[in-house]
Amino acid sequence: MKALMYTGIEALEMQDIQQPEGEFLVKVAGCGICGTDLKTYLKGHHFFKPPTILGHEFYGHVARAPQGSSFKPGDRVVVAPYYECGACGHCQRDLGQLCPSKDYVPSGAFCEYVALPAGYEHKGVFALPSDTEGLVFTLVEPLACVLNGTEHLKVGKHSKVLIVGSGPMGTLFAFYFQAQGVPVAVVEPNQERRETVSRWGIECHAPGEVDIAAYDNVVIAVNKAELVAEYVAKAADGATVLVFSGLKKEETLVLDSYAIHYREVSVTGSFGYALKHFGKALDLICADPARYRRLITHSFPLEDGRKAFELLKLGKAFKIVLVP
Ligand SMILES: [Zn+2]
Ligand SMILES: [Zn+2]
Repeated sequence: MKALMYTGIEALEMQDIQQPEGEFLVKVAGCGICGTDLKTYLKGHHFFKPPTILGHEFYGHVARAPQGSSFKPGDRVVVAPYYECGACGHCQRDLGQLCPSKDYVPSGAFCEYVALPAGYEHKGVFALPSDTEGLVFTLVEPLACVLNGTEHLKVGKHSKVLIVGSGPMGTLFAFYFQAQGVPVAVVEPNQERRETVSRWGIECHAPGEVDIAAYDNVVIAVNKAELVAEYVAKAADGATVLVFSGLKKEETLVLDSYAIHYREVSVTGSFGYALKHFGKALDLICADPARYRRLITHSFPLEDGRKAFELLKLGKAFKIVLVP
């Protein structure tokens, strides 16, 4: 099968490799490029050592299913790239996203076929409606991560939400709150991006031109520690600031203690999703595909994967899906 192999920093190669063996086989129809994929391409990643296939935001068709499975060949499905064990201490505390014993899809999906471990389909594979264009379902996983993030916020009846950074994840947060009818605005330094996001009906501000104190929920969707510090210091009394973007492991935050104590600003973080978020994200997308579909500004054949990564590097795209 054809695969887009990550062979080192800023190096991607189309290769012909052996099709994976497995009882449950999915033919990939599209796979979104995630921020993590981009980071790996640009700087490397301790988790994804080259040569390897990246990509985990995929949907496709069942190519092979075991006897007695509730899926049959041809079924259109989206696959959760991991799910929690459901039994450990973390899972018992409803923290599936932090489960240390997750089951994973064993390979990346920038290729033609992905084989799933035995039994994976019972929890990690979801049937898709046939009447919706498929590409939008590559957004189920990122939206699931957003939903986990929203559970850490305290959005009430009179809340106003501020999203810092209109990358794909920041914009997905904005779409979510827009859909819920919650007042939401985005802060973004890049004028071109601001114009696009405004066209999607979302209030946009350049940094320095926004009254941060008017917002009681803030999502930091950019990996800059100084932004966390700035928004903690300036957010409304009683605000919640969510650190959504990962900072470097050794990085330390220096935060305004006056804001945290006397103004009751809380700081929280979120990472990944639990299976309940994945299911809910799928429901939200099925109910309103057009809203979320706007985020996918480009799709490229797998062969042009390198071009897609370069476009993302230049900040010229929101979400790009690669189609084998
Ligand atoms: Zn992702
Ligand atoms: Zn667990």
